[in-house]
This record gives sequence, C-alpha cells and structure tokens, in this order.
Amino acid sequence: MDDLARARDVLARGGPVVALTGAGISTDSGIPDFRGPNGLWTRDPEAERLSDISYYLSDPEIRRKSWLNRLDAPAWTAEPNPGHRALVDLERNGLLTDLLTQNIDGLHQLAGSSPEIVVELHGTMRESICMSCADRRDMQTVLDRVRAGEADPSCSKCGGILKSATVSFGQSLDPENLWKAEQAVRTAGVLLTVGTSLGVYPVAALVPLAAQCGVEIVIVNAEPTPYDDLAAAVIRDSISEVLPKLVP
Ligand code: NAD
Repeated sequence: MDDLARARDVLARGGPVVALTGAGISTDSGIPDFRGPNGLWTRDPEAERLSDISYYLSDPEIRRKSWLNRLDAPAWTAEPNPGHRALVDLERNGLLTDLLTQNIDGLHQLAGSSPEIVVELHGTMRESICMSCADRRDMQTVLDRVRAGEADPSCSKCGGILKSATVSFGQSLDPENLWKAEQAVRTAGVLLTVGTSLGVYPVAALVPLAAQCGVEIVIVNAEPTPYDDLAAAVIRDSISEVLPKLVP
C-alpha cells in the first residue's frame, strides 16, 4: 500500500480526525509561507525581526514597516483553495471534529469550516489588539487610519501601541486555546497535519503528544518534518491536489 492509500485508510477507519494546519495550506491561495523554498524568511531573513515582539514594542520604525506590510497583505484578497475546501468536506462527512490552525489568515472560516471547530492558535490578522488595554477592533478600521496618514496608529481608548491580534515571537499563546488543542489531540483517533514545518513550539509538541496517546498521525507537507517517523503515512505532495483525495 502506498502512503496515499494508507492515509485514506487511516482517515476512513481511524475515528475522529483533528487537523493541524500551517502556512503551507494557504500558499496555493497566494499567501507565502515563512520557511518553504519561497518563504518570506527564506528569501529575507531580516523579515523575521518584524515578527519579534520586543523589536515591535521598542522600535517605532519596525511598527511603521509592519503597518505598511499589513496594508497590502495578500490575505485581504486571497480566496480559499481546494485544500481548505477538503477540510470543510471532512467536517461535513462527520469525521473532522477540530481544526487547529497556526494560520492567521482566516481562510478556513472563509472556506466554510465552522468557526466553533477552528482554534486559531497564533491569533488572527483580521483584528487589532491594544498592547496596553487589550481592546480589540476590526483590523480594517485601523488600516483605514493608516491609509488616512497615521503611520503608527495608537489605541483610540487608551493611547497604547496597537498590533495585529496575532502571536509574535516572544509572546505566549492564549492558554485556553492551547488547552483546547491539547484536549482535542488527546481524544482524537487521527491527527492530520497539513502544510506545517512543525518547527514552531509549543504547537509542534502536539504531534509527539498525539503519538504518546496512541493517536494515528498523517502528515501532508512538501518537505520533511522532524516528526515524520511518528506518522502512519507521510505525503510529500501539493496540498491542494492531495487533500481532496483523502476525503472518504
Ligand atoms: P512554515 O512556513 O514553517 O512551513 C510551511 C510548510 O509548508 C513548509 O515545510 C513547506 O514545505 C510546506 N508547503 C508550502 N506550500 C505547500 C504546498 N502547496 N503543498 C505542500 N506543502 C507546502 O509554516 P508553519 O509551520 O505554519 O509555521 C510558520 C508560522 O508562520 C506559523 O506560526 C503561522 O502563524 C505563520 N504564518 C501564517 C501564514 C498564514 O496565515 N497563511 C503565512 C505565513 C506564516
């Protein structure tokens, strides 16, 4: 049996499926990943500094650059692709119970995944958050202020520093979201990881947790990951081509 057939078999008979997605599921929607061959950081290692909270808080120039990047982020015009839609089908089949994502682009919900099953472990770029009072707003209202000339808009409530409601390096994940994700993995039959290099912690630790709990693991990713040895099937192919073939 080849890996595609083995993965289909595991998904069809393995019990409740929990998916863990990363930037690779959205590259076919035109949103670059970080560490793939055409990833933002692979091409420009300096860009990594924009994702570090200490630089963001201490350097107004980094914030100005970040707001300009947010203005024309490819996610604003991106459409979900067949990879996102395959996960919608897997949910409608009654197999997918939880969709844990490291993505911040909101494309799973746009594709039709139920918001109740999506856990955005690294937050969302579709909202802003104040670093002082935690006030959250629709990101587009803040981007309108940037377009109107505010290079580094501050919180309208308390004057604090604003940022997208995403988890930067140096920030902790929402403990409730992480707990939800761990509970989902512990009670899953199958963990399906899609388009993630499994190099960012604590999220990557969900994979060895699954293995410890006897959960079967299927990995779909173009490049090898550190946890391929734990998987029942590893498919190194295009996500938008392969994922629809995995839906029973
Ligand atoms: P990553 O960049 O570390 O890894 C992505 C992986 O996907 C790579 O190993 C690459 O080989 C694979 N890949 C890319 N396109 C693919 C395709 N079409 N078919 C098969 N495989 C493909 O991403 P990560 O593990 O999610 O970690 C990066 C962090 O970056 C996350 O925390 C996430 O929040 C953030 N991020 C999110 C987005 C987004 O929301 N779309 C985009 C870039 C980065």
